[in-house]
Amino acid sequence: MSKFKVFDYMEKHRYEQVVYFHDKTTGLKGITCIHNTTLGPALGGTRLWNYESEDDAVLDCLRLARGMTYKAAAAGLNLGGGKSVLIGDATKVKNEAYFRALGRYVQSLNGRYITAEDVNTSTGDMDYVKMETDHVVGLEGKSGNPSPMTALGCFHGIRASLRFKFNDEDISKYTFAVQGAGQTGYYLIKYLIGANAKKIYFSEINDKHIARMKKEHPEVTFVKPDDIYAADVDVFCPCALGATINDETIPKLKATIVAGTANNVLFDEDIHGDVLKDKDILYAPDFVINAGGLINVYHELKEYNKGHATRDIEKIYDRLLEIYKIADKENIHTQLAAKVFAKNRIETINRLQDNYIKR
Ligand code: NAD
Repeated sequence: MSKFKVFDYMEKHRYEQVVYFHDKTTGLKGITCIHNTTLGPALGGTRLWNYESEDDAVLDCLRLARGMTYKAAAAGLNLGGGKSVLIGDATKVKNEAYFRALGRYVQSLNGRYITAEDVNTSTGDMDYVKMETDHVVGLEGKSGNPSPMTALGCFHGIRASLRFKFNDEDISKYTFAVQGAGQTGYYLIKYLIGANAKKIYFSEINDKHIARMKKEHPEVTFVKPDDIYAADVDVFCPCALGATINDETIPKLKATIVAGTANNVLFDEDIHGDVLKDKDILYAPDFVINAGGLINVYHELKEYNKGHATRDIEKIYDRLLEIYKIADKENIHTQLAAKVFAKNRIETINRLQDNYIKR
């Protein structure tokens, strides 16, 4: 018996649509949530996960869809927020028919929702989805791997954060601690090295990634995972897991800026957003600084052009400065200011539509 009340949650957080689907041939079982389509079609990847319960699955889908609304709005994109989750064991269920069945459900939403890869789904899986619908992005041979673009956006976000904090963004004067040298952390380190960063430390738990960094960049110093928080640096860059900024880690931080690619960095947004603010540590809101990959994939909806995508990713710099100013003026933490910024854009664009113009 389900305890979670989907309609109450939808009403409270103003969701537009929740769709459950089940394909009897392949056993595909999933949910698509569309949070808000004021700015454009809802875009969000499809996550495949062996959820313990249907309540866990729908709640994860709802939360992720709402996060996409803020992320797209703050990134200046004409996209809404949506997400799909598939309930199943990724080692067993994946095949052509399974993803073509997903494509048919995506198509049934007639462009209100656009999907992409996410946890446990790949560009190869999306090629099968594409056989049944055009409402899919992140395909092989189009915008390509999003991670270098996410890292590039983060690099510009770090520049903006240094500008705001020290009124000087010359990377060569600053020191960095990068947590995680995987897909995004690896590229971020390369951008920082390219800008002559004064000193870079990194932590990792994957031996291959440690060896790769040591081989390619022996000047970057490895520190044990638990020691990265206390590294004596200007900027801490979380590029691994979520919830790493919490009651236990904040007292260890020596950095005065936290800016990285990871999602949901703050264990509790309101509590830890405020704690960082009180300690005068500047926090770059995660869904703003890590939007480079989304901006890149958005360009796939038009004729993909890397130059245009790169130029839009650079705008993360100005956007963060604007958000930091809102936080200062309103005396609120920066994660909250980013939400105010995103909501303002949605509401303003929504009001524009009162005025009918024939095209
Ligand atoms: P990834 O899995 O390629 O890299 C993460 C790395 O962190 C791995 O190498 C892993 O070994 C390491 N790691 C895990 N636990 C660690 C720990 N305790 N200490 C140190 N290292 C640890 O993932 P990614 O694609 O680089 O994504 C990193 C974060 O950025 C995630 O939160 C992801 O949701 C977010 N993000 C990624 C993208 C993207 O384009 N890839 C876009 C937006 C947000």
